[in-house]
Amino acid sequence: MKLLLRTPSLVHAAHCENLLRAAGIRAELRNTWLAGATGDIPFQESAPQVWIADDAAEADAWAVLNAAANPAPGPRWQCRHCKEWHESQFSACWRCGAQHD
Ligand SMILES: [Zn+2]
Repeated sequence: MKLLLRTPSLVHAAHCENLLRAAGIRAELRNTWLAGATGDIPFQESAPQVWIADDAAEADAWAVLNAAANPAPGPRWQCRHCKEWHESQFSACWRCGAQHD
């Protein structure tokens, strides 16, 4: 396990986790319940964290997050299976795993 990032926003942390999982990178959220304790615990300890299971996947993980932050031009697409909408750079549905063709 490797700590990939900390963010003050649980929504942002969850978004990053979703992006990584959609790209096939095993990721998990930690500290999702400590945010309310900020002030009592140093930020570095209490902020939501995104961890990756495979340390060697760090470069791939950052590539996924950077690509998401700078979306490739292209039309959004809708999953045929579950109807979830996705940005063009994703090749598979993060919700159900269906491939985009
Ligand atoms: Zn889907």
